[in-house]
This record gives sequence, structure tokens and C-alpha cells, in this order.
Amino acid sequence: MKVLVVGKGGREHAIAWKLSQSKDIEKVFVAPGNDGISIENKCECVRIESIEEIINFVKNNNVDITIVGSEEYLANGIVDKFEESNLKIIGPNQKAALLESSKIFAKSFMKRHNVQTASFNTFVNLKDALEYSRKASYPLVIKSDGLAAGKGVFICNSYEDSSRAINELMKEEKFGESGKKIVVEQFLKGFEASVFLLMDGQNYKFFNVSKDHKKLLESDQGPNTGGMGAITPHPDIDEKLMKVIFQKIVNPTINGLKEEGLLYKGFLYIGLIIEEETPRTGSRKNTPNGVKDEPYVLEYNVRLGDPEAQSILYLLKSDFIDIINDMEKERINTTNIEFYDGFSLCLVLSSIGYPFSYTKGERITIKPGITSKIFYSGVKKDGENLLTDGGRVLSIVNKADTLEEVRNIVYDEAEKIHFESKYYRKDI
Ligand code: ATP
Repeated sequence: MKVLVVGKGGREHAIAWKLSQSKDIEKVFVAPGNDGISIENKCECVRIESIEEIINFVKNNNVDITIVGSEEYLANGIVDKFEESNLKIIGPNQKAALLESSKIFAKSFMKRHNVQTASFNTFVNLKDALEYSRKASYPLVIKSDGLAAGKGVFICNSYEDSSRAINELMKEEKFGESGKKIVVEQFLKGFEASVFLLMDGQNYKFFNVSKDHKKLLESDQGPNTGGMGAITPHPDIDEKLMKVIFQKIVNPTINGLKEEGLLYKGFLYIGLIIEEETPRTGSRKNTPNGVKDEPYVLEYNVRLGDPEAQSILYLLKSDFIDIINDMEKERINTTNIEFYDGFSLCLVLSSIGYPFSYTKGERITIKPGITSKIFYSGVKKDGENLLTDGGRVLSIVNKADTLEEVRNIVYDEAEKIHFESKYYRKDI
């Protein structure tokens, strides 16, 4: 089979790598990909970006199926255009992609279907938003309606903070159309979890649950990023809590999608905050009796996460193309999905300054003998050298029986990779 992966980050590298492991895969094209992905066996990056170019490429090269990693393409209707041309693709159509591309759409969906989420109000008018936030109690969270690459979310501790955020979004239009409408929601305190489901348009299957690390600095301090590391499975979620997540989040979400004709062939990533009755001190396998943890949906994403995809796919034992084929053929409920035992950990190496401004073009050197897998995000080739070319440069992934073991391996190997502005969190 020949497959095409759409996107250019570490997530797409992981998808392409995992597909390339299959004996049924002859070739993995990645559009546009990056120079780090090109190094991978069976993988070829194609420097095309527009949906039209991608469709022509798929037709001209007899690509069997396309898997979309990146949300922008989905929000721009790549699936609708593929379907018009009778081409196979994994991802939601533009309507279902609104679950991610419009927070107002997503929050209203959650409300209609009793999916537990933070209470909220929506605003389309600057004056009303300011008036509301003047009387509100703090902290509260202000979010742009549209996609803003994780930068359209403001945690506000005072009217001063919220009026600044509202003005940036609605008056100065810093995020263009995305911020003209906003959601103002209750601040939730707890830990985060990323739940992944596979859907085939009729049925769904639980894939895995990961722990992302969104904040730049240790102990979850500093600005939000695209994600600085991930662990799969989530070490703080036990069976009891998973049951609650299914009951209050997954089941009503799936029922709602069915009712509204929004179930699609693709991945659903549910971002959660778990409010704890008593905060965890380190990971615990079993929730003590009588202790209640309450999951709330922060957001829906209609694709895999980055860096969660790197850690999930590294832990996946099953052949990924079998899973993709079953999603396409509407039989995901019968798929046997196996993961290796233990934990996988993905550590992101970024450039100092990310998520704001940072230097590009630094030479990356890797000492020989690294056993971890490296997935590339922001890199480019210069002759034989690989140079940094983005905020998140690469991620290192490995797996082991215990979290402690995998941490030791990955952190040890992080020291064997060098570029001048290398930065990573020490507490993934
Ligand atoms: P991304 O695109 O990076 O996944 P996003 O822009 O879609 O993010 P959210 O996931 O809704 O936005 O929020 C980003 C982060 O802000 C969350 O991961 C969480 O850390 C924080 N956050 C969002 N909403 C809340 C809330 N109600 N209470 C507390 N923290 C929140």
C-alpha cells in the first residue's frame, strides 16, 4: 500500500514511522513533512501544501489512503474535497471539524449532550464581554472561538487581565477572525489528561490516555506551549476514574455525535481537566474509597495530539495500517489493539525562547548509540547537517516497564543530543 500523511511535525513523523513498520506498506509520503522525516525508511516528503496539490498528488501517485495529522487542513475541509473526488481519507469533514475549530460550537455541543465541562458564556460583542468580566469572580478563562495554535487561551486573575485579553482578541483582533467571538469559562483546578478514541463513522474504540505537559516550565509554570512532553498511559488515571470518564464524558460525547450525524472516520482527542477531591502526591494506582475525582472537558481535537501521538504510537504493538484500514472499512469495534506493557515517554527538545522568539539554523549533533527514537519537528537539512528550524525541534521517545526506568533512559539520551539553544523540561 501507498499512504500519505498530511502535516509537518513530530506527530506526523511518528504516524509515518509507525506506518512504515508495516510489511503491507510500500511507501509513506508526507506532505509537506520535514527534512528529519525524509531520513526515515520508506518515507518521502513531498513539498506541497495546498489541498488541490495534495489531491492531484494522491491521484497521480495511486495513494491508497491519506491520514491527516494537522488540524488546519481539517478545518479547511480537506476531507470534504477528498470525498468529492472519491479518495480515501482518515479525518472529519469540515462540519465535524468544528468540534475543534470553534470553541463555541464545541461548548454548545457539550451543553446539548450533558458532557461535563466548565460552565461558560459566549460573547460576540466587546462591550458585553467587558461588562460581564467586570462583574465576574476570578480566576476565569478567556478563549478565542477559533484556532490559535494554543495561544488564544488566557487565564485571568483580575478584571485587569481579562479586559486586556478581551481587548487583544476582540478590539485589536490579534488573532484575526479567530478571536472576534470568545468563550469565557470557569477556571478549573486539577490535572490534565488526553483521551484518544478511534472512530469509523459508525463505531468507536478507546485508543489510549496520555499525560501531556502543556506548560513551558517545570511544575507546570510559565506560558502554554504546543506540549513539552507526554507519557502513555497516563500514570494518574486508574480504572475507577476511567469509568467516570466514560460515564460523564466519552459516552455522552459519542451519543451526541451519533445523534447529530457527526461521527466520522478518524481520531477524537478529548482534552480533560480532572478536579481532585484530594490532590495526588505522586502517581497512585488506585483511587482511595470515597475519594471523588471529577473530569471536565477542556476541548475536543479531531486528530492525534503532538506530543501524545509520539508516545502512543511508540507504545503501540499492533500494526497501525490494520487499524487505519478498519477505521476506513467501518469495523473498528472488531479491531484488536495491543500496546506494549509499561510506559512510553516522549520528551520534547525545543529552542530557548519558544513559544515566543527563538534562533533557527543551529547545528544538531547526536552522539552515537542512542536507543531512543527521535521524531523530528522543526528541522531542516544543510548538506549533511541537520539544523534547527522551529520552536519545538525534536522529541525523544522510549518505553520501559516502569516510569522511572523510561525517564532515566530518555533523560540520559537527551544529554547526547546537542544544539546551542537546547531546552527541555526536567520533570516529564
Ligand atoms: P491547544 O490547541 O494547545 O490544544 P487550545 O488553544 O485549544 O489548546 P485549550 O485546550 O482549551 O485551548 O486550553 C489550553 C490550556 O489552557 C489547557 O491545556 C489548560 O492548561 C488551560 N485551560 C484551558 N481552559 C481551562 C480552564 N477552564 N481552567 C483551567 N485551565 C484551563
